[in-house]
Amino acid sequence: MNLTPSYMKLRDTGELWRRAEQMPPMLKKCALCPRACAVDRTVGELGECKAGAGIMVSSAFPHLGEEPPLVGMGGSGTIFLTHCNLRCVFCQNFDISHMGRGEEVTTEEVARMTLQLQAMGVANINFVTPTHYAPQIVEAVALAAERGLQLPIVWNCGGYESLPVIRALEGIVDIYMPDIKFFDKASAEKYMAAPNYPQVVRKALLEMHRQVGPLELDRRGIARKGVLIRHLVMPGHKEDTEAILKFIAEKLSPDSYVNIMEQYHPAWRSHEFDKINRRITHAEWEEACETARKLGLSRGF
Ligand code: SF4
Repeated sequence: MNLTPSYMKLRDTGELWRRAEQMPPMLKKCALCPRACAVDRTVGELGECKAGAGIMVSSAFPHLGEEPPLVGMGGSGTIFLTHCNLRCVFCQNFDISHMGRGEEVTTEEVARMTLQLQAMGVANINFVTPTHYAPQIVEAVALAAERGLQLPIVWNCGGYESLPVIRALEGIVDIYMPDIKFFDKASAEKYMAAPNYPQVVRKALLEMHRQVGPLELDRRGIARKGVLIRHLVMPGHKEDTEAILKFIAEKLSPDSYVNIMEQYHPAWRSHEFDKINRRITHAEWEEACETARKLGLSRGF
């Protein structure tokens, strides 16, 4: 297996900087995500995500609680970004995503953070909620790659991604980690203010899978490349879980790595919605795993 992150090839040909220079104009009539707010973020206009022209970081640290293939011995080099393009009423990090906790930093500083994390021995650089900062992240990666960054880049997102942006990330992102939430339009509208989420996430997943395929691990069991899918099982939404797992097994690959997550708990505005105002039961989670097994999935849960 090739252990070199893909962006190092783009660095050597000059393509990485070309991409970094092509992307900032996207901020002028923002369509970085499917909301396509068309605001000019470079002059202070804000779209639904509330992200500006710069990049805001909430925290950066070696995260030991991510999936085992991301953690290795030194943790996943997590950089939590402020704001979010999804409006989940149940967000478990609402202080960061909805309330804007974080500090504005330069792309130089983000590049420095990646190098500091690398020096601490992390297994990858894990950008959490990166979608609305794609141009700034690509610039930071280009800067860091020139200064010796050699770790895979993880795109840890909600799956509400614009196809042109995901295509522009080809060869830069090694590991896509979308968290797929709903395949039902009404639920996506009610709980995330994104009625087109189901169709968008299907297309995004297909493109991610086309670029990097199922998750590949090195000899030590550490992820080097591929798609790592998360699915947060929601209370009372068994049909969504079944439809999502079926899509993964049939349209991507039964070899897909899927973390079927049990840790949902009511947060932020969940108390306003009876159906999701509770934890899931262990039986609900077991049932989701059994559905996955019946569909031929076997990795990640
Ligand atoms: S990234 Fe933000 S401003 Fe841009 S289209 Fe999406 S929600 Fe709107």
